[in-house]
Parts: sequence; structure tokens; C-alpha cells
Amino acid sequence: MARPPPDVEEDDCLPEYRHLFCPDLLRDQVAFITGGGSGIGFRIAEVFMRHGCHTVIASRSLPRVSTAAKKLAAATGQRCLPLSMDVRDPPAIMAAVDQALREFGKVDILVNCAAGNFLCPAGALSFNAFKTVIDIDTIGTFNVSRVLYEKVFQNHGGVIVNITATLGLRGQVLQVHAGSAKAAVDAMTRHLAVEWGPQHVRVNSLAPGPISGTEGLRRLGGPQASRSTNVPAIPLQRLGNKTEIAHSALYLASSLSSYVTGAMLVADGGTWLTLPNEARRQVDSAPLAKL
Ligand code: NAP
Repeated sequence: MARPPPDVEEDDCLPEYRHLFCPDLLRDQVAFITGGGSGIGFRIAEVFMRHGCHTVIASRSLPRVSTAAKKLAAATGQRCLPLSMDVRDPPAIMAAVDQALREFGKVDILVNCAAGNFLCPAGALSFNAFKTVIDIDTIGTFNVSRVLYEKVFQNHGGVIVNITATLGLRGQVLQVHAGSAKAAVDAMTRHLAVEWGPQHVRVNSLAPGPISGTEGLRRLGGPQASRSTNVPAIPLQRLGNKTEIAHSALYLASSLSSYVTGAMLVADGGTWLTLPNEARRQVDSAPLAKL
């Protein structure tokens, strides 16, 4: 079996990169990536840029995306525009997309990667905490998709990749908020694929499993989780890494998947089929959220 591509824990670019796909797969395309300043979104931006793409990375913290954009441009030689934007705020999204269009003249790809998560028993989850996760993950995904469709994709076509999760497939404990939010995004993927297909817009979901070097894994698995090599419950016997998820995103964003729409690509080493779903160990290993 092929070895996983190398990766680094931090939000830094890869010290070296070996192309598995054609290096000009996304040449001169422009990708708008929410949550592109950290974790999986950062690596997706890097891998897209290493395939000739320019990027817009957007999240709430301007310092975060500005620092990330400098690293990404220096490592890849492509342009990266950092923008401050909350996916819950439609006027801010419209302004951000307008700025992206002034900078690049077009957007070809949208990656909805912004999200928030934490562990919490459903019975202790505040009403506001549940609503906040739905607002960011589900409504935020709709908001950004809707703005890009109206301003660009309905006339020029486009590709949308929604980063979701496998939590809702089995009903994971302590994750009713995130599982519900991501399941709604997967439904949205299918609805929009059907409704916007005639306008040449492809819409797919990409559901990662536990991915090393991410805030998501630190929050759900505890600070040591990324270094864990004892993962017998995962059929592939290891955590995934950010580059592997970026490669799946690259497939879905590029013409390699030109006849794929309305699909959910699970990239989790088989985890959702087998991982134990037991509450106490997870509660002990990570703090509960207070939103
Ligand atoms: P991460 O680094 O915390 O990424 C989340 C990003 O979303 C951050 O850059 C954050 O930036 C941004 N964000 C949060 N709220 C926002 C808002 N209201 N508006 C705009 N941006 C917002 O986490 P990650 O672990 O890499 O996760 C990335 C994606 O993969 C998420 O969709 C997550 O659900 C999914 N996923 C991750 C794993 C995993 O193992 N890590 C597994 C399954 C699915 P700001 O704070 O600057 O806004």
C-alpha cells in the first residue's frame, strides 16, 4: 500500500512536496476557501496553490489569514488574498466576494471549510451552543455558497467542496450539534447539486476522519491525540493527515471529477465503520464547551 504523503503538525507549508497529480491541474484558477488560515483549510490552500491556483482565504481573524497568506505565497509563488469575514454575516460575505473579484476577476472554486466544534453531552449543551454550531457550519455554508452562486457561478459555472464529517452517519456521542450541522450540509450538497447542475455548478461533500495536526483533533481527542500511533480501531491503523485531505479536495475541485456531483467522499481510513462510540473516555480526555 502507498505510504501517506509527509505532513507537518503546525499551520506551516510543507518543506517539500512531491506532485501526485499534474502540477498545472488548477492552473490560473481561483479558489475561495473559508477557514483557509488554519488546519485542513490551510493545507487545501497550499496544495491547490502548488497546482497553479490562486486563492482567497477568509475567516474572522485577519492576523491569522494574513500570516497564513504570506506563508502560502512564499512557498508556492502563487497569489493569496487574506480576508476577514464571518460566514454568519451575509453583507460581510458579499463585500469579501466583491474584493476577491476586484483582485482576481473571477472565482472558480469554493471550499466551505469554516466550522466550530467541541465535545458536550446533549443534555448539558446550552441552547446557544447548539445554535452557534448550526449557524457557523450549516447556515455559514449556505450563506457563502449563495453569495458566490449569485455573483459568479450562476453565469460562469463553478465547483463547491463542502468539508463535512462522518459524525452523523452513526450518531456519535457528545456530538449532536456538529453531527446535526454537518448532516444538514451533506443534504445541502445534494439539493444544490440538483438545483445548480444545469448552471454547470458541481457540489460535493468531503468528510475527513481524525486528522493529525488539526485543532479539530486537539479539541475532540485531547492535546496528545495527534501523536497517537495506537489506533487499532481505525482499519488503516493510523490517523489521516492534512495533505491527504487536501488531495481529496483537489480531486473534487478539479476536472478529474468532472462528472461527480452530489456525492460525499469519506476520507477517514474506514474509521466511521468501526470506531468505538463510548462516552466516558472522550469526556475524560477533553474539556466541555461553554458557549
Ligand atoms: P480549524 O483549524 O479550527 O479550522 C476552522 C477554521 O474555521 C478556522 O480557520 C477558523 O478561523 C474558521 N472559522 C470558524 N468560525 C468561523 C466563522 N464564523 N466565520 C469564518 N470562519 C470561521 O479546524 P480543522 O480541524 O482544520 O477543521 C477544518 C474543517 O474540517 C472543519 O469543517 C471541520 O469540521 C472539518 N473536520 C475536521 C476533522 C479533524 O480531524 N480535524 C475531522 C472531520 C471534519 P477564525 O477563528 O479566524 O474564524
